[in-house]
Amino acid sequence: MSTVPSRVSPRAFPRVSPSRIVRAGEILDLVRRGDANTTGQLADHLGIARSTVNDRLEVLLASGMLTLDGATQAGSRGRPAATLSFNPRSGVTLAAQLGISGVRTAVTDLSGEILESRMIDIDVTSGAGPVLVLVVAEFGRMLERLELDPALVHGIGVGMPARIELATHAPGADWSSEAVEAVLTEWLPVPVFVDHDVNLLAFGELCARTDAPEVLISVKAGTVIGCGVVVNGKVVQGVSSLAGEIGHTRVGVSEEPCSCGNVGCLNAVASGAALAKRLRANGVDTPNARAVAVLARSGDVDAGHAVRMAGRDIGDVLASVVNLLNPGVISLWGYLAEAEDQLIAGIRESIARSAQAGPAGDVRIEPATMGADAGLYGAAMMVVEHALSPAAVDAYLLTLQST
Ligand SMILES: [Zn+2]
Repeated sequence: MSTVPSRVSPRAFPRVSPSRIVRAGEILDLVRRGDANTTGQLADHLGIARSTVNDRLEVLLASGMLTLDGATQAGSRGRPAATLSFNPRSGVTLAAQLGISGVRTAVTDLSGEILESRMIDIDVTSGAGPVLVLVVAEFGRMLERLELDPALVHGIGVGMPARIELATHAPGADWSSEAVEAVLTEWLPVPVFVDHDVNLLAFGELCARTDAPEVLISVKAGTVIGCGVVVNGKVVQGVSSLAGEIGHTRVGVSEEPCSCGNVGCLNAVASGAALAKRLRANGVDTPNARAVAVLARSGDVDAGHAVRMAGRDIGDVLASVVNLLNPGVISLWGYLAEAEDQLIAGIRESIARSAQAGPAGDVRIEPATMGADAGLYGAAMMVVEHALSPAAVDAYLLTLQST
């Protein structure tokens, strides 16, 4: 990494009246989103005096969150206007993406770029307490290796599997958001944000795209299948936070039992776990979804065919989603998506066959923009969106004064 984040020296931070910090967060927000990068533009955007903007800039520059360069602006007359940039290396997030058999952990900067990541094997049946003890130990080691002060951490983002999956694989274990937050905040008193992994995939996809459409669907096609839905820049949670459970929609005429208690669910016939089981029954060595993907990628005809058929089943369910929401993009992530040609081909076939021609023609079906790191990126960006909200930045700048 070229620049390692470093906290501003408290001695260098100006002691200013809290009234001179008010709206500093809005200024940071405008610069970070590329809406303004000079004092004049900021004053115009906010409808306040340049001197007021300059007061806030003094604080933001001292905090290290903004930097100033002397580059002239094309077309400006007279004294060249210095331009402001957001400095994503002024802080970090900690991100974790929990799976049924492992958890991916990362330290990212404030643009979501991963500075270091690690995979830890876990036993999900032991519940949030024992598993997160391992996670915080890894966070601590990563911060140490990167020589980062924990005071640079703006928050922790955690992606969790769907409730049904956790209840199936870890019956009785406490995996509530409260249990997760309790362990993490006891270790480091920073804001903790917990959401379903599919929601973080969808949010990450939204953040990663400059051309994000009004409706975006992010599908996880791994050991289990699920999806996250973004409409007008917001992740749709549903009234009980259960939106996106397409894995438990019945497809075809299968009587295969599902972990949810029903039969014939998409998960029971087309998930990575289901494909691995079916191939094993035919004597193929596929202990898990990952093995199916590796085999399909290597050109194995049976594995490739199984992934393509799974794609068709997933596409049958997505055809209803396409008709209902008219999405611009369906992004794919997960082990099965790693055998992407077969999966995408199968999904496209079904959507073309089962959805209306109009919305079927509108939707682009693509691998997740951030690839394998999409879940961690989404978790990090959830922290960034909250921790760098105008109000949170104002509060953060006040805390710097007291350090
Ligand atoms: Zn089910």
